[in-house]
Amino acid sequence: MRQLLTPNSMWSTHELKDRYDVVIIGAGIHGLSTAYYLAKRGITNVAVLDKGYVGGGASGRNTAIIRANYLTREGIPFFRESLSLYEDLAQELDFNLLFDQSGRLDLGHSESAVYGLRMRTGVNKLLGVDSRMIGPSEIKELVPAIDLRVGKPLPVMGALYQSSAGVIRHDAVVWGYGRGADRQGVEIHPFTDVTGIVRENGSVVGVDVGDRRISADIVMSATAGWSSNIARMVDMKLPLITHPLQAFVTEPLKPFIDRSVSSANLHVYVYQTDRGEVVVGGGVDPYSSYSQRSTLHTLEELAANMLELFPFLRGVNVMRQWAGLCDMSPDYAPIMGEVDGLPGFLLSCGWGTWGFKAGPIGGYTMAELIDTGKTPDLIRPFNLRRFSRGELVNERAAAPAAAVH
Ligand SMILES: Cc1cc2nc3c(=O)[nH]c(=O)nc-3n(C[C@H](O)[C@H](O)[C@H](O)COP(=O)(O)OP(=O)(O)OC[C@H]3O[C@@H](n4cnc5c(N)ncnc54)[C@H](O)[C@@H]3O)c2cc1C
Repeated sequence: MRQLLTPNSMWSTHELKDRYDVVIIGAGIHGLSTAYYLAKRGITNVAVLDKGYVGGGASGRNTAIIRANYLTREGIPFFRESLSLYEDLAQELDFNLLFDQSGRLDLGHSESAVYGLRMRTGVNKLLGVDSRMIGPSEIKELVPAIDLRVGKPLPVMGALYQSSAGVIRHDAVVWGYGRGADRQGVEIHPFTDVTGIVRENGSVVGVDVGDRRISADIVMSATAGWSSNIARMVDMKLPLITHPLQAFVTEPLKPFIDRSVSSANLHVYVYQTDRGEVVVGGGVDPYSSYSQRSTLHTLEELAANMLELFPFLRGVNVMRQWAGLCDMSPDYAPIMGEVDGLPGFLLSCGWGTWGFKAGPIGGYTMAELIDTGKTPDLIRPFNLRRFSRGELVNERAAAPAAAVH
């Protein structure tokens, strides 16, 4: 029998209990994937609380690019393992995620940019990511519509190509993890605003939801752009600044590009969906804000930069533009794991503009940490204490189109 799936039919509704083993704040990809992998480990007395609807944060607003061609020895293995989990995720969740591994080009427009991409390619290869450098003729073969004219202020001189990179249906991933967690007994509570974090004798022991107090052995914050607000509830200041990030899509066009293309110099990335819409995104807005409204200025800037690569798109209509919040860390790397001096409290944040692709491995490793009490090696470098120890990761390739800072 055909099963009609709507977000509301994918998870059950529950009365909030007074106690859980684990409370996760935030029903985005990181909160839900952690809940899913916890349940797979047999930890099912778990509640995921969200002040809005499931996936209503950045997880339902991103441009869904999945890749692993990062720069650092900490970042590359982490994102490589996430891509590997993504490759089997549709089967794992029994849900079609429309994962299209059609490849991704990071363009270089100057000798120094090409030098940087070459270096990144080398590190990628050493750490098991299928990146390679390609020149203008292969770029033209892969993306025939791109403008390769020389003599422009920013001519395309080369590209780092990762063929296993791709694009996935972001809300399907969120719903799939939500449904998978629910089926194993996890409770998902949308429209449940955490207003306080309860501490006793120096440990976190629960959360406040309005006038309800919910106790828990572990409270994990997976609130991305709102992480600083949650941290304030335990008198903590995180090294994060929340910036809006915007994107837009055009009206549907005949297929002209089947890979994503990104340019750090132009601060823009472009791909075409299977419906024919052209998705265009770039760097974060240069100011800090919690506003999720899009702006004309950013639309004009993104459109102008896109036209540098695909001038024939001049005159195409824009259908939608939107914004989401990004919790930018100073070293472009996540902040994951326990917080020194605050037992019972865990962070999964600092996901900035790069966190969707990290969803599977982020949840997998946080669940392992909660279950075993031991920090998995893969996320050890991302602990908050790196900032006091001066051990920053410096993952500047995290957001090549957004490397504006
Ligand atoms: C336009 C745009 C494009 C992007 N493109 C990409 C991309 O192509 N690839 C990529 O890898 N990443 C991309 N990102 C980044 C990525 O979307 C995020 O890093 C990721 O989704 C963060 O997931 P999350 O689960 O940590 O947070 P979110 O999905 O933001 O979820 C956090 C949740 O916490 C909830 N919350 C906050 N405060 C409270 C509270 N007090 N009580 C209860 N709930 C609360 C919010 O309602 C929200 O639902 C993009 C982001 C944007 C905005």
